[in-house]
Amino acid sequence: MSVRVRFAPSPTGYLHVGGLRTALYNYLFAKHHGGKCILRIEDTDRTRFVEGAVENLIRSLRWAGIEFDESPEVGGEYGPYTQSERFDMYRQYGMELLHKGHAYYAFDTPEELDAMRERQQKAGIAPRYDRTTMRNQYTLGEAETARLMADNAPHVIRLKVPLAGEIKFSDLVRGEIVVPARDVDDQILLKSDGFPTYHLANVVDDHFMQITHVIRGEEWLPSTPKHALMYDAFGWERPAFAHLPLLLNPDKSKLSKRQGDVAVEDYRDKGYFKEALVNFVALLGWNPTSDREIFSMAEMIETFRLEKVNKAGAVFDIQKLDWMNNEYLRLKPSAELADALIDEACEKGLTDNKAYLEQVITLVRERVHKVNELLPFATYMFQQPTEFDEEYKAKFWTDEAKQHIPKIIEKFRHAESFDHTTLNGIVKEYAKESGVKMGVFANVLRLMTTGKQVGAGVFETLETLGKEHVLARCEYFLGRFA
Ligand code: GLU
Repeated sequence: MSVRVRFAPSPTGYLHVGGLRTALYNYLFAKHHGGKCILRIEDTDRTRFVEGAVENLIRSLRWAGIEFDESPEVGGEYGPYTQSERFDMYRQYGMELLHKGHAYYAFDTPEELDAMRERQQKAGIAPRYDRTTMRNQYTLGEAETARLMADNAPHVIRLKVPLAGEIKFSDLVRGEIVVPARDVDDQILLKSDGFPTYHLANVVDDHFMQITHVIRGEEWLPSTPKHALMYDAFGWERPAFAHLPLLLNPDKSKLSKRQGDVAVEDYRDKGYFKEALVNFVALLGWNPTSDREIFSMAEMIETFRLEKVNKAGAVFDIQKLDWMNNEYLRLKPSAELADALIDEACEKGLTDNKAYLEQVITLVRERVHKVNELLPFATYMFQQPTEFDEEYKAKFWTDEAKQHIPKIIEKFRHAESFDHTTLNGIVKEYAKESGVKMGVFANVLRLMTTGKQVGAGVFETLETLGKEHVLARCEYFLGRFA
């Protein structure tokens, strides 16, 4: 039997990072087993539909490097599969369950349902549809049901869940799961407008799309007993289930917009590499055997095992993502980064010299986490500083420095070469002769040429700036503060 899995998002706006992880695990699992991974748009709830959401989902998934089989983009004929185009089929199978006695008509009004919930709340029981007291095919009898149906009375079709006993299924992450049937609601399968609910459409599609493994977020675990019952009622083989652990904020609450970005596009727009985001998301709940953390997509496909997915929730730690992004940043050739940034550098009036931009990137790349931090961080490499860190200046721009620095600058002026080794040698020698610590001079030179306390190595910075600019900057500084 060959593996077939699906990613089945609802088009409610954007791709959530949790959705990216679900899509990714499905993709890795399928590729690992030489199987197929399909995309299915679950848009049965038309009230939640958002214009452009499907295109947005597909764009984000493609950006992340996840491609779906059977979709036109990869030469397939069909996908993405769209549930709203298949409504007739769900209705047909909903009716089949009804005719087999596994589902029934219910006529309760919203007011009656509210009253039921209120009664249950008062009695301290969890709210669920109470088939034995409400207005449905069972309590009303066949004749009254037929009369109401002939009258076009508003109705839904509900799944008939056993009133007692247990529902069992196994989960590849969580093991055997046993749920008392009394805790499972008589789920609505077809709504009063005739539209299917998620549960009916999902099970019908997973069956006819020959899905072998349902891999989805833990929030769907309470739905699985209902789905298991439906497979049994249809007489269909159940797929294997795997529920992925929740993503958590650092305070262990469920990952929410309030505590940070949750849309994949936000991370893309902030300058994270897709490789880093995908690598980071992959490790939220999955521990490959080795103690490495950096994996390419091919390596993840190779090592992915559902059995290695954790049960415990995974904390979305943005600092780790930053660290990982930096690891990927180190691997990118500076020339490639310069290509990506030259237009922006021109627009910002920083430089139109790509060779110089590349040198600057090589100089500062280890000091930042993301590509889009490079230019803001390195602005001083393109523009002479006119503001100087006050605290830094107070500490190092001392009388002693004022006395020696002009002499060092004179030596720089006459230096034969302006590479960092030569400059370092000049300052070292001068420090030795004068008896002043070399670090003092290094700090003052950084202050004068960059205005800042932090940056790349000072002599490498001077070399990259070049003699002309270094002398001009020092003269400016001395003109103002000597
Ligand atoms: N449409 C559901 C969602 O939005 C899919 C759940 C499932 O994979 O069964 O996540």
